[in-house]
Amino acid sequence: MRGMSLTTDGRAPGPVRFFLACDRRDCQERITFDLVIADPPPDLEEDLFGHMLHEAGQATPYIKELGWIFIEGGEGYWCPACATPPSLRRPPDAQDPEEEAGHEP
Ligand SMILES: [Zn+2]
Repeated sequence: MRGMSLTTDGRAPGPVRFFLACDRRDCQERITFDLVIADPPPDLEEDLFGHMLHEAGQATPYIKELGWIFIEGGEGYWCPACATPPSLRRPPDAQDPEEEAGHEP
């Protein structure tokens, strides 16, 4: 099973530690964060997938908030830098162009 870029330590309900690594080639970005998950996972017998992915699913909104995105199709997670298209990245020295003179009435 893919998606090993997001791993967890601990099980709900309770504090869970998440380890998230960027899956983009050559990117070494990784973060760790803790969430307290109050809801227990669904029963293993009734919902195996839901049971296994419970903690990851609970963390999804938080991961989004951090700017990481999940790439559909098995690519995994990308960090905010990788998730931003080059065209939207502003070089640090980019400034608004001076307002051009010559406002014709
Ligand atoms: Zn990255």
